Parts: sequence; C-alpha cells; structure tokens
Amino acid sequence: MIQLSLGRGRNEALTVLCMGCHSDDIEIGCGGTVLRLVEEYPRAEFHWVVFSAIGVREGEARRGAELFVSGGQLQGPLLKTFQDGFMPSVSADVKATFEELKRVVSPDLIFTHSRRDAHQDHRLIAELTWNTFRDHFILEYEIPKYDGDLGQPSVFVPLETEMSRKKVRHIMDAFPSQRSKRWFDESTFLSLMRLRGMECNSPSGYAEAFYCRKLVL
Ligand SMILES: [Zn+2]
Repeated sequence: MIQLSLGRGRNEALTVLCMGCHSDDIEIGCGGTVLRLVEEYPRAEFHWVVFSAIGVREGEARRGAELFVSGGQLQGPLLKTFQDGFMPSVSADVKATFEELKRVVSPDLIFTHSRRDAHQDHRLIAELTWNTFRDHFILEYEIPKYDGDLGQPSVFVPLETEMSRKKVRHIMDAFPSQRSKRWFDESTFLSLMRLRGMECNSPSGYAEAFYCRKLVL
C-alpha cells in the first residue's frame, strides 16, 4: 500500500494539537503516534489540552503529557476543570475554551475524539473541534470502553513493538487512579493496537488507528 507522509522534513516545524476530555484520553487514543512524531520530528511542538483534569487527575494529566512529549516540545498542558460526564450541559463554556485555543494555535495536525464515540463528553469535543478548526487536518482517535463503540477506522499508524510497549508502560505509570477499573490494564491497550496492526499489515504487528473525514491530496 502507498504510504502517505505529513509533507514535512525531519527538521521542519510541525504544530500538533492534542485534545482529550479526560486525563488519559490522549495517551490511550494517540499516545503511540505522539511518541513516533516526537522521535521523527524533533522540531515539532505539541499543544496539549485536557478538559477534565480535577484533583488527583490533574497531576496525572500533567505527568502523562510530560512522559509522552519529552525534550522541550510540550506546550502546556492546558488543564481545564469541566466535570466528567457533564460537558454537554456546559457546552458554551467548553466552546469558549476552543475560541481561546483558536487564537493561540494554528495546528498542522489535530488529534481529537471521534464524533461517533459513545461517551457524551467525547462527542462534544469532537464536534467543537470541527466547528472551530475549519481548514485543518483532523484525525479522530478511538477509546475502548464498556459501551462498545469501536468501528472501522481508515487511517493507520504502524508502531514498532517497543514503541507500543512504551505507550502502555507510560499509561500505567501516569494514571494509577485508573488501575482499579477492570478494563484499565496493559492487555486492553496492547490488544487494540495488535488488531489495528493486523488490519494495516504493520511489520511489527502493532498500530494505532484513526478516523479521517477530510483529506486533501
Ligand atoms: Zn474520556
């Protein structure tokens, strides 16, 4: 299969915006791809926004961002305190955060939630991403969950085995408050990457996958 690239040389600037509702969403959804971009584009900068980072989860969000984006490439993280599960009821305030973001960053690449995600907060962030960024390349990531909303993503990012394992190690390190949840373990994250790796013939067997609604060649 033909491989597309971001059209930037290794030493060129690249602005990436990563958005997640909750403290661990970005890391679970696109952490492996972020690790790859950090390595392949040393001049890239990563703007990192978490909309619900409250109490212990604030420190975890910060630690997650710092583990994944090391070496001075991290902008932020910008950590907001919207209540988990209630974002649609304060959507005007959430939208104000997007208006603020639009003024400070014009990203080359945006990672956000999927519009078809079963979690209401995730869907809101996905919709506001598209409403706000009108001429941008947007990739929507997936979050495995109890509700069961996995679909058929169309964009795949193969990951080396070591990078996939590093992603999972960082997630387990950064978010101890989530370890009591039955689904929050290494096998969940590795198995989803293994299945997506199978679907794109990844040489290592591992990949992350995204929904892309609009792409200009
Ligand atoms: Zn979430």
